[in-house]
Amino acid sequence: MPRCLYCQQDNPPKQAECGNCGMPLPEHADSAPERRQRRFLWFCIGLSIFCAVMIVWLPRHLF
Ligand SMILES: [Zn+2]
Repeated sequence: MPRCLYCQQDNPPKQAECGNCGMPLPEHADSAPERRQRRFLWFCIGLSIFCAVMIVWLPRHLF
């Protein structure tokens, strides 16, 4: 149930604009949350691998 950010009105799904005030609904703007979530997951995995490589690769005598 997409809720309007402006008037907090609940709207039926697949509706682009709020039925109460006519403002665009947030769910319509990002229609692929799963893909975004998966991209974020891969970003975290890549960041972890990068940190692990840096821990091994950087000289330890600095600490
Ligand atoms: Zn509204």
